[in-house]
Amino acid sequence: MSSTSPRSTSPRVLGVAVPSPLRRLFDYLPKGAPPPCGWVPGLRVRVSFGRRQVVGVVMECRDSSDLPLARLKPIEACLDKAPLPLDWLWLCRFTARYYQHALGDALMHAMPVLLRQGRPLETRTRERWRVLPDHESSSHTLARAPKQAQLFTMLCQHPQGLTSQSILAQGFSREQLRSLEAKHLVELLEEPMNAAEWPPAQNLLANPALPLNAEQATALNALCEGLGRFHPCLLHGVTGSGKTEVYLQLIEAVVAKGRQALVLIPEIGLTPQTLGRFQQRFRAPIVALHSGLSDLQRLDAWEAAANGRAAIVIGTRSAVFTPLARPGVIIVDEEHDSSFKQQDGLRYHARDLAVARAKHHDIPLLLGSATPSLETLHHAQQGTYRHLRLRQRATRHAPARLELIDLKGRPRHGGLIAPVRDTIAATLEAGHQVLVFINRRGFAPTLACHSCGWMADCDHCDARMTWHRQPPVLACHHCDRRRPLPDACPKCGSADLRPLGSGTERTEESLAETFPKTPVHRIDRDSTRGKDALDKILTEIRRGEPALLVGTQMLAKGHHLPHVTLVVVVNADAGLYASDFRALEHSAQLLEQVAGRAGRASHPGRVMVQTMHPDDPNLRLLAERGYDALAESLLDERRIAKLPPMCFMALLRLESPREEHVMTLAKEAADALRNHLEQHQLKVDCLGPVPAPMERRQNRYHMQVMLMAERRSQLHEACAWLVHWGEANPAMRRVRWSLDIDPQTL
Ligand code: ADP
Ligand code: ZN
Ligand code: ZN
Repeated sequence: MSSTSPRSTSPRVLGVAVPSPLRRLFDYLPKGAPPPCGWVPGLRVRVSFGRRQVVGVVMECRDSSDLPLARLKPIEACLDKAPLPLDWLWLCRFTARYYQHALGDALMHAMPVLLRQGRPLETRTRERWRVLPDHESSSHTLARAPKQAQLFTMLCQHPQGLTSQSILAQGFSREQLRSLEAKHLVELLEEPMNAAEWPPAQNLLANPALPLNAEQATALNALCEGLGRFHPCLLHGVTGSGKTEVYLQLIEAVVAKGRQALVLIPEIGLTPQTLGRFQQRFRAPIVALHSGLSDLQRLDAWEAAANGRAAIVIGTRSAVFTPLARPGVIIVDEEHDSSFKQQDGLRYHARDLAVARAKHHDIPLLLGSATPSLETLHHAQQGTYRHLRLRQRATRHAPARLELIDLKGRPRHGGLIAPVRDTIAATLEAGHQVLVFINRRGFAPTLACHSCGWMADCDHCDARMTWHRQPPVLACHHCDRRRPLPDACPKCGSADLRPLGSGTERTEESLAETFPKTPVHRIDRDSTRGKDALDKILTEIRRGEPALLVGTQMLAKGHHLPHVTLVVVVNADAGLYASDFRALEHSAQLLEQVAGRAGRASHPGRVMVQTMHPDDPNLRLLAERGYDALAESLLDERRIAKLPPMCFMALLRLESPREEHVMTLAKEAADALRNHLEQHQLKVDCLGPVPAPMERRQNRYHMQVMLMAERRSQLHEACAWLVHWGEANPAMRRVRWSLDIDPQTL
């Protein structure tokens, strides 16, 4: 908090946050006339910083500085007439503090690119020309100007008016328009872009809401009771249980009160389908923040949300930073999805920021999932979140159970054993579609020499290179390095090089051979690179002809595939014995999501899961009693092991191309931290340093130090100290280091 009131209009010093990793403000002197709002926090200014000119944000207006005023530089210019939205400014401050991140960097991350570049924030307008309602008769005034007469006739046919853009596109000129204006025949209107008005409350819906089943109605009632205050709820229901319908009706209630809804969805979930469902339901203006927007469209969307012109804002992770004029509800769909956590730079979790934001605005928060994260389930069990359940599918069929299929000692073709292939054949015979899930793209996870055992390792990572067929290369999925396929083993010269394991390409190839009459669609990051590639495949699949779908998690999430009745999981074992304590949770969520693709429409589904460990107790629990039962058991384990969510965690990550630098500094940091913890009697455990799970990545060495505490405040104190120590210690500049608060992967 700044000691001066934000209203002070003639401060002598401006504390400015600039884009820099340094966790402090930089002081400048105000220059020129103050903007109409006076000098206040939230104004963007251009300042010279080092040898560069940068855009920064005024955060404090003070009368003193730690430096003599004579040594401060004046700002170059103030870029705004009014401060950036205050709710946004609050969120950036909160984020920087919570994640121990440099405020300037957080602010820049959270604003649209064009604002970062210094572009003014103003409502962009569009010009519209319209015939004046009481214009004088035009026949004689335009007798000698046929082109103008033609233009006038056209405008008469469009009493609402036409935009300048569309008039010029018809071959008329600006001069002709100005002449008509001078003759008092037409007028020019300037209106904001995205100016769609909110329709009146009784007219919000373009299509009627569905009548809710009993569980949905109970959930909606509970949610509507909490409108107008902080009211966090978990909407916990299997895929297809009608969660989205509940969101839509909750949004309707919020928008009817003149408030805005912010909806966050996973990266993979913002499909034209999802968006279409919102657009079909509401007449109220919706802005969608997706990766296809231009910088200008993104700025417009931001501005429309900040101004209250947008009623509904839908977007992925970074949309949590969208300012809202009249926030009414925040909804996070598939709250467990890992794409909500940013994995580099500002490592925030959009779901967790959504919680903080809802609390700040004092509005309800709805987290929806079929497979809630253990964090959220823990809150629900503790009673801090209301637990709303949808146990039935809104459509007829119960979700399919997982059948575990033993892989041990059975020959595989393209990753699939004979009985599974037989079931696929029978399903196709019956006229249905089959989804084969394999979470590895490429032809094979690697290439191996059958004579000497050589395997294609990446030179820059502790990882194998994946064999791709289309186009034929060896590629590392961790650093993107590519190599041509060798003709012979680089170690022994043997030509007997073979694929090891299966990826999507190999499974696709093998299925195409076995079922030559059935189309096989492969859906992974490689096959869907083109702009509409995925949409094309999905449209084809939705026609409902028998087909085989081979895909990665891209296909497992979000898409409604009504004709799929058999789902095959090629290998369920990735998460079973991983070192990361969250691996099993994530892998169970994914399996349940994949299984949810089976039998959504008129036919019941079947899910066959191949595994080398059919007796694994966790896998059996998931198969026999479902995700909720497994989640309960995992929560018990975490309680005993004192792991999140029963404690709080942070990770100091260090990396450098020089192994000895990372080793030495990681140890130094851990020692210094332990010393500090002891001196201040902080109840924080410090573990490590240990090498990161993939120690060498992109030719850089990675080490980490783990901090765990039962109390968040103590962890926070320790982290703040550690960051301070790191910044003050010049040796730490030899490595790249960062602090990950609430890390999702180790
Ligand atoms: P979820 O978001 O939980 O996966 P959806 O809201 O997408 O579930 O619902 C699944 C399907 O059931 C959709 O086709 C939806 O239109 C339909 N549905 C949802 N609620 C109802 C209802 N109350 N009555 C009839 N159909 C419904
Ligand atoms: Zn060899
Ligand atoms: Zn690599």
